[in-house]
Amino acid sequence: MLGKLAKWLRILGFDTFFDCSANDEELLKIARSEERALLTKDRELAAKGGYLVMGKGLENQVREIFQRFHLTGEAKPFTRCPVCNGELKKISRKDAEKLVPPLAFKMATKFSVCRECGKVYWDGTHMVRMKSLLRNIGLKEVNK
Ligand SMILES: [Zn+2]
Repeated sequence: MLGKLAKWLRILGFDTFFDCSANDEELLKIARSEERALLTKDRELAAKGGYLVMGKGLENQVREIFQRFHLTGEAKPFTRCPVCNGELKKISRKDAEKLVPPLAFKMATKFSVCRECGKVYWDGTHMVRMKSLLRNIGLKEVNK
């Protein structure tokens, strides 16, 4: 239920484990052994040792988690792969040329690649949406 929130926590640079196929016991075990906060919409699971996310909608949820876990100064937007949680490594324009579609390559100025899954990222149109969400949740745009 919180897949979108998980993806956004990654976009904001937080190490986020997400597995919608894991059961309650597995999630509790992973949270304990890896010292992770367990975020859930499930009251029963929250009662066993998780944090119950109350907010509805992505922006409210991100805001809520930022307040609850004091994350505002900790965000490092666009440093982590939203798909697999791997860290992103910046690559040069020259290295990016063979990896990025030609039109996107022309428009983009920054490129990075996921150290884990190899997915390539650049500052394209999807970035505009992400930056507006950052502003809406009260984070200044971080542009490194
Ligand atoms: Zn990845």
